[in-house]
Amino acid sequence: MTVIASTAGESVPAPAHALPGISSADRVAVDAALAELGQPRYRAGQLADAVWRSPASSWDEVTTFTKELRLELAHRFRFDTVAETEIRPADGGLTEKALHRLVDGQLVESVLMRYPGREGRRERHTLCISSQAGCAVGCPFCATGELGYGRDLAVAEIVDQVRHAARRLATRSAHLTNLVFMGMGEPLLVLDEVLAAASILTDPARFGLGARHLAISTSGVVPGIERLTALRPQWTLAVSLHAARDPLRDLLVPLNRRWPVAAVVAAASAYQAATGRRVSYEYVLIDGINDTAADAAALVRLLEGRGSHLNLIPMNPVAHTPWQASPPERVRAFATRVATAGIGVTVRQNRGQEVGAACGQLAAERTGEPSAASVAGRQSRLVAASAAALRSVEPRAAFRSVGTGAPRAPRPAGRGGERGMSPRRTG
Ligand code: SF4
Repeated sequence: MTVIASTAGESVPAPAHALPGISSADRVAVDAALAELGQPRYRAGQLADAVWRSPASSWDEVTTFTKELRLELAHRFRFDTVAETEIRPADGGLTEKALHRLVDGQLVESVLMRYPGREGRRERHTLCISSQAGCAVGCPFCATGELGYGRDLAVAEIVDQVRHAARRLATRSAHLTNLVFMGMGEPLLVLDEVLAAASILTDPARFGLGARHLAISTSGVVPGIERLTALRPQWTLAVSLHAARDPLRDLLVPLNRRWPVAAVVAAASAYQAATGRRVSYEYVLIDGINDTAADAAALVRLLEGRGSHLNLIPMNPVAHTPWQASPPERVRAFATRVATAGIGVTVRQNRGQEVGAACGQLAAERTGEPSAASVAGRQSRLVAASAAALRSVEPRAAFRSVGTGAPRAPRPAGRGGERGMSPRRTG
């Protein structure tokens, strides 16, 4: 039994929220707990079935065990580290946004997306999960970045987002086919936990997802990419670029000040060479900020000949930025410029526009509204910073920003004011 010392020096059971999640317990820990309880070895197999292959969502529902055994196990492990989940369906059932409340009140999000089968391809169910509550990177177009950093998730808290989705899919006779670490947080800043979760989720004796069906994204943590490269996994690496020139990327992805874009792309190319897995680059298109012919040309110079793939994503509207998504004609023009240079390009469609929202926006809704003054201050800071960044990458950019909308009329205050949900995280 997990115990803590009382002030009187006696051992007392640990409170439920301090217990480890059963989904992160390895075979040694499970065997030790069962041996301590005098259980036969075959119980370990029954326990794995209950955790990984049954619809049970609590110890109470593990009816292969006696009530006494369930109680003993509940004193040692939490069956589920997610205390509560709110589901918001969208896109006629193709998208499901889940807001998970963890036991300490932190909120994280996952998004389940169904891609119907077509042209010989099977139906796919892709889950986007979070690795942190909030995010310290602070990309200014991202609702999670605006929330700030809460804490890193424990391994079981990452894995249990997946178990939740798998249980929901099982009720529809479907199963998860793809998993992406593109929700809240920067996965490579919590790499130990992400690696442990990935190992559990790809373990055939546990969740059993094929390694090639897993993708990990980063906004450019070079030491993390290098660590992944040394491990040579079969996962897809997705790198969020959003700008190809440092002054602009310093603004849009603040980690760029530490690891400039050329170093990020060089590290990602080394990953591709070592693993044989094509790197995918993500690029959020923001009207008048990073979507011009000069931006496309800089991107081509950066990615040309690397054999990677580019995903273009019109920015999800986030209420507290002064910016908007690039209009469809600018998206098409940008895609054409890059594709003409021989770089594979896909334009991703936003999903779930009707339900809140972009990565972090549901959690932001729950944390309350900032004051109108703080929203206005943030917007005017971003307008000034983007104008300065544009001037430094292109001296004539001051004219461009007036004509194409870098400084926009402020949006209505309110985190939930405008909503969008990307099938991919934008960071
Ligand atoms: S885009 Fe990604 S890395 Fe940037 S703040 Fe949002 S979650 Fe963090």
